Amino acid sequence: MELTIDNLSKTYSNGINALQDVSLTIEKGMFGLLGPNGAGKSTLMRTLATLQEADHGAVTLGNIDVLNEKNEVRKILGYLPQQFGVYPKISAEVLLNHLAVLKGITNKGERKEIVHVLLHKTNLYHARKQNLKGYSGGMKQRFGIAQALLNNPKLLIVDEPTAGLDPSERNRFYNLLSEIGENTIVILSTHIVEDVKELCEHMAIINQGQVVLKGKPLELIDQIEGKIYQKTIHKNELDVYKREYRVIHEKLFLGKPVIQVMSDIELDNGFTSVKAGLEDVYFTQINNLN
Ligand code: ADP
Repeated sequence: MELTIDNLSKTYSNGINALQDVSLTIEKGMFGLLGPNGAGKSTLMRTLATLQEADHGAVTLGNIDVLNEKNEVRKILGYLPQQFGVYPKISAEVLLNHLAVLKGITNKGERKEIVHVLLHKTNLYHARKQNLKGYSGGMKQRFGIAQALLNNPKLLIVDEPTAGLDPSERNRFYNLLSEIGENTIVILSTHIVEDVKELCEHMAIINQGQVVLKGKPLELIDQIEGKIYQKTIHKNELDVYKREYRVIHEKLFLGKPVIQVMSDIELDNGFTSVKAGLEDVYFTQINNLN
């Protein structure tokens, strides 16, 4: 099964073009949709999840017309929204069981089995009797995945799922998603480059409602390999360097600014050549430096 998005566009009533002719083909596995805040990621995710209308364009999932056959999509869709609210005063097991009823799993025995399988899969079985109020951020997100998997979806959409997770929670969450990606289309929308670097075989970068780059992370990195240079500078030199070079991004290292520059010609003058990374690919696109 394949998800095909064709020239999808959306303008909100305030005039913001949140999506402009977005076209993507997404196959089974982990697909990373990377972009800064306001890029249009959630608009795209909500449209794919049948929660919002597009102005024009087409989306097909296998042979389902996503924009017009919403009920068909919902049968095979799992969605973890950016803001996932849980009822704080009931246990994970009770809530998951309740959500399973809402999703139409009416047979009690079958439901119990599915709920237990999912609690194991998301590593929450030991905490199944705990109220969700006491769950950590990572546990809540894993619970969000458990509920999204209740109908054994063919398409799983997760919107900014790792924001606010600590490194070990994030790792655990990555492992869970990559396991699911083995036989499901998983779209991970995120502004965190690391999420995509760690997890996704395919990706697209979206900025101001447009897809500005798509491909495989490793191939996209390869295309700029050998062109990335680094230099530690003084704070007051930054503007000068920005005028003279294509400064991809700057960061502090031991309190000193370090700039990362892209150049087609070899640079000396205190610059060192460094290995290209996905951050370089990302910031080159976002800052229009290509
Ligand atoms: P992202 O998920 O990448 O942060 P969004 O899809 O949330 O991006 O937003 C894309 C753009 O559309 C932003 O400029 C945002 O302010 C605007 N936007 C999002 N939702 C609405 C809405 N309901 N009404 C008007 N503007 C919106």
